[in-house]
Amino acid sequence: MFSNASHKELKDSVNSVATPLAIFEHATSGGFQVVTCNELFTEVVDEALSLINGKPIDDIFPRYLANQISHGCNESIRRQSSEELEVTINRLGTNRWWKCLITPLVQKFEDRTRLMITLIEVTEKKILSKELAKANSRFKAIVTSAYDGIVSIDINGNILLANEAAQEIFGSGGLVGKHINTLIPQKFRHKHSDYVQSFRTSDVPSRPMHLRASVMGLKSNGQEVPLEVTIARINVEGDTEMTAIIRDITEKNELIDELNQISTTDSLTSLYNRRYLESMLSKEFERAKRYNKTMSLLFIDVDNFKSFNDNYGHAVGDAVLKKVASTIKMELRDIDTACRWGGEEFVILSPEIASEEASLLAERLRSAVEDMQCNYHGLNHNVTVSVGVCQLNDSHKLPEELIRDSDETMLKAKKQGRNKVVMYE
Ligand code: GH3
Ligand code: MG
Ligand code: MG
Repeated sequence: MFSNASHKELKDSVNSVATPLAIFEHATSGGFQVVTCNELFTEVVDEALSLINGKPIDDIFPRYLANQISHGCNESIRRQSSEELEVTINRLGTNRWWKCLITPLVQKFEDRTRLMITLIEVTEKKILSKELAKANSRFKAIVTSAYDGIVSIDINGNILLANEAAQEIFGSGGLVGKHINTLIPQKFRHKHSDYVQSFRTSDVPSRPMHLRASVMGLKSNGQEVPLEVTIARINVEGDTEMTAIIRDITEKNELIDELNQISTTDSLTSLYNRRYLESMLSKEFERAKRYNKTMSLLFIDVDNFKSFNDNYGHAVGDAVLKKVASTIKMELRDIDTACRWGGEEFVILSPEIASEEASLLAERLRSAVEDMQCNYHGLNHNVTVSVGVCQLNDSHKLPEELIRDSDETMLKAKKQGRNKVVMYE
């Protein structure tokens, strides 16, 4: 019917179609002209229904579109098959996107081939795919330029995405397709898979892994690397993917170690400083009281050091203090803590030893300092120390009371002529 009926005969049929539709045929003057169309079609092309019949394509569409559609019509006739185009029609300043389906109608009518053109609106899809493309490029730009490593895995732990920063952290390219286990040291793999499993079924969408325990990664050269890792989960229609944001914290850890060392160490002697000893003492004090253990404190003071400085100068005094510190350290066990308490005073915290053993230790220290070889500027200097020893007892309610008692005991050694060890009584 469509291939030979007139506009009048076709009018009702085309109007009943719920998408813009028009029948075109070859015009005698060349090109294609409208035989009939429905109201929806006239709305799209902004033409009056009463005037559109017989109008050539060139009059209905702007030139760029008319050329595109005419070409589609010719191709459709040549191939005797449907042609599909995507066209943008601008009306009143607004673009709408259409899928334009051109179908040749089989019978020829007085040698004029007819074509049916239907338009299916794809504006929404077009806008969505534009938005998607934009979001994709935004995502790619962020992932590529991110300072942190980004690695995504599927539910089986296969790597789906790894940015350049991640490849740098793990020292290897081509991570995509590998299993996440290749980035985890053997001994942590089990723990990691348990963790990922528990996170998969948890309510939270993201979680910093390193808050629970330190996280180590495995570089391609077999070295371990400390990491901060935050993982996020996405769930799309039953497909779960995990993305990890990974930061190499080697430098940060080194800095923390360095800061820790600086804040706990005496710069002249490299022994611990007073603050560190105080914190160790309060821990050991607490432990000894709770578990009914003992401990002893040794308070060491260099004898007549003021006149030593006055005679030989401050620089030689400093060198001697360093020597005294290293001599003391040589005599101690690993569990003893030696600190420079201040000036020319040192305190030794000896956990788990009572007076007798502590007195032997103090005597060893005293005699080691006395025997110390101190040659500076061609002179051999004799240095001695006085030591007060105090064992923890029931009267001690606070750590500082143990310090006080050992300090006072050391002063007794001074009174007894210096270069002596005196026990607290
Ligand atoms: P005593 O035997 O009674 O302890 O006498 P002393 O001279 O050692 O005691 P005093 O407290 O009178 O003097 C301590 C001296 O230690 C004073 C100061 O010149 C010296 N001193 C303290 N800290 C340093 C330091 O860092 N370097 C040097 N070279 N000397 C120091
Ligand atoms: Mg002193
Ligand atoms: Mg002194």
